Amino acid sequence: ESVPVITIDGPSGAGKGTASRLVAEQLGWELLDSGAIYRVLAVATQHHGVSVEEEEPLIPIASHLDVQFEVSSDQDVKVILEGEDVTTTIRQEEVGELASKIAAFPRIREALLRRQRAFRTLPGLVADGRDMGTVVFTDAPVKIFLTASAEERAQRRFQQLKEKGFDVNIGRLLEDIKQRDERDQNRKVAPLVPAEDALIIDSTELSIDEVVNKMLSYVNEKL
Ligand code: C5P
Repeated sequence: ESVPVITIDGPSGAGKGTASRLVAEQLGWELLDSGAIYRVLAVATQHHGVSVEEEEPLIPIASHLDVQFEVSSDQDVKVILEGEDVTTTIRQEEVGELASKIAAFPRIREALLRRQRAFRTLPGLVADGRDMGTVVFTDAPVKIFLTASAEERAQRRFQQLKEKGFDVNIGRLLEDIKQRDERDQNRKVAPLVPAEDALIIDSTELSIDEVVNKMLSYVNEKL
């Protein structure tokens, strides 16, 4: 494949979403928010009334997932599931929790591979997730792992959710983040680990602009 990819992996709340969007915007490249796919799948299982405790019944839902990402004029991406706008719904903590459970099933991850790789189109792709550099785009010329302390990530998540009008408790958020890290890092398939050839950026003490600048200068160096 000659289409270049920048993979940006890391735990939730490290600033990946915003950084990936800004890097993609700067370069004029496509953006893949792979977490959104797992989140949409979580919502779809709820719509279908299927439990997330067992893998088998989830497979057909994953394979037939009817999801669309629509870029609107203000650069915001609308997420459409079976014709319904689920942009706000998928950002709920409960949905992230369900997504993380579903994401531990190997055959579900497998079923979503092709869909994710289809985002690789010219002039290039910025891929945001947990296993973009380690599984989905192993040949990516630029791999970044963005992290931050759990406390800082909980704090940022708190601000984000508050701005969106969600009622949240900071202590619970921190617990949830730690639990989700634990699950994402220790699962058997595609655990959350930096690719061997990834640049590791710790954003705990950095502003979003500083993170993006670090990324862009690394991209310039590598491409
Ligand atoms: O990044 P986000 O919080 O939207 O992802 C939701 C969940 O989806 C994560 O906790 C993780 O378990 C899963 N995920 C994954 N692989 C990805 C992206 C997300 O397993 N590439």
